[in-house]
Amino acid sequence: MHIQSIPMWVGGSNNYAYLVMDEGSREAVVVDPANPEEVVPVLKPQLLDGTINLTAIVNTHHHWDHAGGNEKMLAYPEFEGKPVIGGKDCERVTTTPKNGEGFKIGDISVKALYTPCHTQDSICWFMEDSTGRAVFTGDTLFHGGCGRFFEGTAEEMHTALNKTLAALPDDTKVYPGHEYTKANVKFAVSVSQSEPVKKLEAFAEANKETQGKFTIGDEKKHNVFMMVDVCCSDPPFPSSA
Ligand SMILES: [Zn+2]
Repeated sequence: MHIQSIPMWVGGSNNYAYLVMDEGSREAVVVDPANPEEVVPVLKPQLLDGTINLTAIVNTHHHWDHAGGNEKMLAYPEFEGKPVIGGKDCERVTTTPKNGEGFKIGDISVKALYTPCHTQDSICWFMEDSTGRAVFTGDTLFHGGCGRFFEGTAEEMHTALNKTLAALPDDTKVYPGHEYTKANVKFAVSVSQSEPVKKLEAFAEANKETQGKFTIGDEKKHNVFMMVDVCCSDPPFPSSA
């Protein structure tokens, strides 16, 4: 599994789109290509020279900075008619797998994990092949943080983080929808001064991009929203926005 990060609106909302490719078949999907002006120049040369065979657009949730580029993407001849796989409220969505079901990208198995709260249509995409595991968490789980509860409750976020995502293998690499680590860790150190939190703080200080550098196992140690059972009687969830 080859994953290429495509930063969007750097210095603004600091979003990430991701290109995920199965090296054997060259089949690929693009996750949350919300700003085609920044995504298409990355994809087009790889489509033209046969490096990738793009089979679908995949969305983590309906917000404009994740799914708001679908219509524009589909207007390019290279992407015309491609399926849009995502939650029910995503722009131009064609396919919404049931919770726990999924699809294949070549040899990569993809599974939809419903994680309603940030939006009710939030889906984390767990991907696995013989080379490793990854989960694309949109605005549900960030390194050292979690998304705001725009359409859900603290109980739903607790289920998403500490039941659904926590059940994934510890070596699953986490690919969030934004680069928020630095801000998240500021809050984390106010709650916990543990070694893993300090390590995350040092990493975020030294690296502009942190996506995919930490696993579900790491999040269980440095993400204060995933330590609620061990460290806090009152979960430190932010109040809903
Ligand atoms: Zn969002």
